[in-house]
Amino acid sequence: MKVYQRLRRYNAAMEKDIRSYSLNQIRDICQTLGQPRFRAEQLIQWLYVKGAQSYDEMTNLPRALRATLAEECPLRPLEIVDKQVSSDGTRKYVIGLADGCYVETVGIPACDSGGSLKRLTVCFSTQVGCAMQCAFCATGHEGFTRNLSSGEMISQVLVVQNDFDMRVSNLVSMGQGEPFQNYDALLEALRFINNKKGLGIGARHITLSTCGLIKGINKLAEEPEQFTLAVSLHAARQEVRDHLMPRCAHNPLPELKQALQHYVEKTGRRVSFEYLLIRDVNDTEKDLEALLAFTDSLLCHINLIPLNDIEDSPFKPSLPAVQNHWLKSLQAHHHEATIRNSKGADIDGACGQLKNKLTR
Ligand code: SAH
Repeated sequence: MKVYQRLRRYNAAMEKDIRSYSLNQIRDICQTLGQPRFRAEQLIQWLYVKGAQSYDEMTNLPRALRATLAEECPLRPLEIVDKQVSSDGTRKYVIGLADGCYVETVGIPACDSGGSLKRLTVCFSTQVGCAMQCAFCATGHEGFTRNLSSGEMISQVLVVQNDFDMRVSNLVSMGQGEPFQNYDALLEALRFINNKKGLGIGARHITLSTCGLIKGINKLAEEPEQFTLAVSLHAARQEVRDHLMPRCAHNPLPELKQALQHYVEKTGRRVSFEYLLIRDVNDTEKDLEALLAFTDSLLCHINLIPLNDIEDSPFKPSLPAVQNHWLKSLQAHHHEATIRNSKGADIDGACGQLKNKLTR
């Protein structure tokens, strides 16, 4: 009974779903209940490797423990509230979380030349909504609701894995949210996803994308894992960037460049840049020169992205001739650069289009 009371105090909010706790908190909960350490690992395996949807499935846990957990930290099945399939095979899911929030996740399959599936990339969300309010992004227009827990991030990978009935090979944090505003939960999730006892996805197949929060970049530079860093740059002239990405203004470009140089030196890894080409807004010769100056002497890859349509947006994608001109100029300056068309645009599943719209 005493143990029970201790857990009640621990679980002050009562009725909090088990997935809302971090993995370390789950370990604490098991310890509070007087369980040996390996029990917590068994529970975590059930939740985040096997994807159990109820405590009843966890047959190697003592019945009494399962009953206590079910009462105190219920495990509510994750619900796929909506699923859309694009003509290119991309699938977008709206997932219902225990507290009634929704989050979007995208599964992007890629085939080899023979037509058989060779890769499955999950684009996962790190927050419900986003606080950054980038002018061109549908998620930003929705505002911020809350951070996701590490378990809610890992669960998104399992949802896609189950639905495709195929192992997920790559992961990008390019869904809703700004990953570096939820740094600790994100890193806990990624470590588990990367770990052989977790989902075993190689660190080099995991990409963290940020709008350029310097604090997060500096922290990531100190981590031992070889995750790939992507920065949504979108403008290399300060006034244009401040206009497009107002909430990034306290991360000025010169300091951002310094942080990235430090990151490259520290990790020996190149940085990826995303540059959204928006007609007459950030695609002039002046913008191109600024980008060349910003990336000069930086080990990087530049992805030029034609803007995807979002509702009520004043922005238009750059003309194809302009896109090609940018690509050629970057390559002429010895940069690795590509034009990347996002997949899933017909189901609003592409970059910047995620905003929890239901089709039913
Ligand atoms: N906040 C993080 C993670 C979101 S990633 C980040 O900014 O990197 C989502 C990517 O889609 C970002 O590169 C974002 O800038 C891009 N994006 C947003 N709106 C878009 C649009 N309308 N068309 C194409 N890409 C867009």
